[in-house]
Amino acid sequence: MSKLTALKNFAEVRWLRKFSDRAKLEKYQQKMLRKQLAFIKAGSPFYADKDCSRLENLPVMDKNSMMENFDTLNTQGIKRDEALNLAIESERTRDFTPTIGKVSVGLSSGTSGHRGLFIISEKERMEWAGAVLAKLLPKGHILHHKVAFFLRADNNLYETVNSSVLTFAFFDLLKPMEEHIERLKQFPPTLLVGPPSVLKEIARVQENGELKIHPEKIISVAEVLNESDERYIKKVFGASIIHQVYQCTEGFLGCTCECGKFHINEDIIYLEKEYIGENRFVPIITDFRRSSQPIIRYRLNDVLVESKEKCTCGNPSLVLERIEGREDDIFYFEKDSEGTGEDVTVFPDFISRCMVYVEDINNYRVTQDAKDRLTIYIDRIDDKTKKDTIEEFRILAGRMHFKMPEIEFAPYSTEPGKKVKRVERKFVYEKN
Ligand SMILES: [Zn+2]
Repeated sequence: MSKLTALKNFAEVRWLRKFSDRAKLEKYQQKMLRKQLAFIKAGSPFYADKDCSRLENLPVMDKNSMMENFDTLNTQGIKRDEALNLAIESERTRDFTPTIGKVSVGLSSGTSGHRGLFIISEKERMEWAGAVLAKLLPKGHILHHKVAFFLRADNNLYETVNSSVLTFAFFDLLKPMEEHIERLKQFPPTLLVGPPSVLKEIARVQENGELKIHPEKIISVAEVLNESDERYIKKVFGASIIHQVYQCTEGFLGCTCECGKFHINEDIIYLEKEYIGENRFVPIITDFRRSSQPIIRYRLNDVLVESKEKCTCGNPSLVLERIEGREDDIFYFEKDSEGTGEDVTVFPDFISRCMVYVEDINNYRVTQDAKDRLTIYIDRIDDKTKKDTIEEFRILAGRMHFKMPEIEFAPYSTEPGKKVKRVERKFVYEKN
């Protein structure tokens, strides 16, 4: 039964649910919204006394309110403490098989301190797997793929896709890289899926000649793929596109199409945009199908940049210019003498761009520790890279009219299994 669910959803997403124009897509979305709102009204105690006749009448949720109302929001009668204990136990023992009834439990990594708890049923997991495969398997060639999937295990969400037509190997990011490389030699994948920091590491080994794999498709997940990493991975593997998946525990939100454009999966989720600048917005998402823990008007703290272009692949779903990073990672500086208004807001992309122009560095991270202080972690610290980096920030400060912060340099390092964030704000910003 469960594999049938995956297959059914695979076929629907891949072939049946194709929309030739925006109007047809929107009509489908309205139908799915009506269904889902009726479902939560009847099945979720949290929504039972709310006006579910229109989506706009319902509260916007976030990680905190989702956790606070966990017990009444979910439709399975599961208590938060029970689920939390199970999730922590799984995480500690790295055994992700235990479930509560038919529901598996996971923790989402909280970047801002609090951890999110999520539950998903067997059926939903199969639907997810079907949708992911439908969107990601190469055109015209869907059988006999070998998928190498590098992810930090959150739950058993990622172990489901295994069958005679597809082999799926799961690589736990907490294990050492050398072990993964050996395994990759035994299991040369046709699809390579992982966070960009890991893809880059694999590319480095391949470039040294220690590994010879030829994936048909390379898919970047879990972290934002920046331009310089993208260029490098493309070059090493001779790939024309590095596909990106925008996936979090709250849903499968988007991916790259065959033309190399990044689309929001508007056939799976309904998107509301909270604009924070021209073309820049924070997404509020409603998933059409999640039933154990409904995702209704859930505000992610990501910053997305929309594109006005239509894609030639024919998919009328929104095209993104890029995913810029977390809203929590916007930097704030004090304005200089020419600045007007309040503090100066600097989006993560501007910070990354400063670093892209500095020669001879491969890896970097920039943290803002206070309004007037940055730490820059680079893999090559010498007088020239320091001078060049400071110069780039001076140009940016001049252009955007903020006071030049103090910059400290430190050797680049990462923690295994932890998301690599290139640009990260380390202090809580309060508007003045
Ligand atoms: Zn497209």
